[in-house]
Amino acid sequence: MTIYIDGRYCSERDAKISVFDHGLLYGDGVFEGIRAYHGRIFKLKEHIDRLFCSAKAILLRIPMTHAQVMSAVVETCRRNRIRDGYIRLVVTRGVGTLGLNPERCRHPSVIIIADRIQLYPPEFYEKGLAIVTVPTTRNLNNAVSPAIKSLNYLNNILAKIEANIAGVEEAIMLNATGYVAECTGDNVFIVKAGQLLTPPLYAGALYGITRGVVIELARECGVPVSETNLTRYDLFNADECFVTGTGAEIVPVVKIDGRIIADGKPGTLTRDLEKRYRALTQISGEPIAPARKRRAI
Ligand code: PMP
Repeated sequence: MTIYIDGRYCSERDAKISVFDHGLLYGDGVFEGIRAYHGRIFKLKEHIDRLFCSAKAILLRIPMTHAQVMSAVVETCRRNRIRDGYIRLVVTRGVGTLGLNPERCRHPSVIIIADRIQLYPPEFYEKGLAIVTVPTTRNLNNAVSPAIKSLNYLNNILAKIEANIAGVEEAIMLNATGYVAECTGDNVFIVKAGQLLTPPLYAGALYGITRGVVIELARECGVPVSETNLTRYDLFNADECFVTGTGAEIVPVVKIDGRIIADGKPGTLTRDLEKRYRALTQISGEPIAPARKRRAI
């Protein structure tokens, strides 16, 4: 595997960073998880834009332009012959001292790993997930904003541990006022009376790229979409429920905190959106292989 670190393409063995990097010492940095389908990188520009927004929010200067990051991601995929895969793009604050002052970190590091994808088991999609709400609440907007995709995922990891303890794959996190924020690594949607509903971003959700695509797809096929505060009660009494994320795509949810959602089967709109989403991933995105030159006839 070839890994990009700060302008160099190195082997997996040589892909190393310092133990003094503040990404490691303090979780000081930002990242993106991106998918490649069928030789194209899906929503690459949106991911790079979000990376730069996360970096701006933590005053981290990425030492590359948007275009340079995009072409480094494409090149890393090309060198690893990725057609369908998962890309992890990481920017750390860089090497500093043991003190937490980021001013001592002179050179942020950019790391790109492009690997094969480990897909979720098909039964998640066929039967739907049982999930729970957990005691750990989502970070406050004015603490570490949940919109920042930072290297410090402890808030989500604690919720994931609580999901593991409950014996389920995902957890719903509420915000400090008790409204639904999102899941540990996914956004959440419900369908109620023909409307698609999802918590607003200020409720404590990441600005999910899959979330954005799903909202667009639903609107395109005439389904009204509303970003509105949701309670656990709203989830329990939904007609359908699903979660969205780059890795997961769209996964139906059929049970929440022991309450069966509707008839306990993945819903019709969920299925329809899953199909539309998969179709879109197959036809759009940034091509990985350079365009073949046309032969003169
Ligand atoms: N929320 C959180 C906390 C996430 O980490 C992610 C990404 N895995 C998402 C939502 C989904 O975002 P996206 O659709 O951009 O992958």
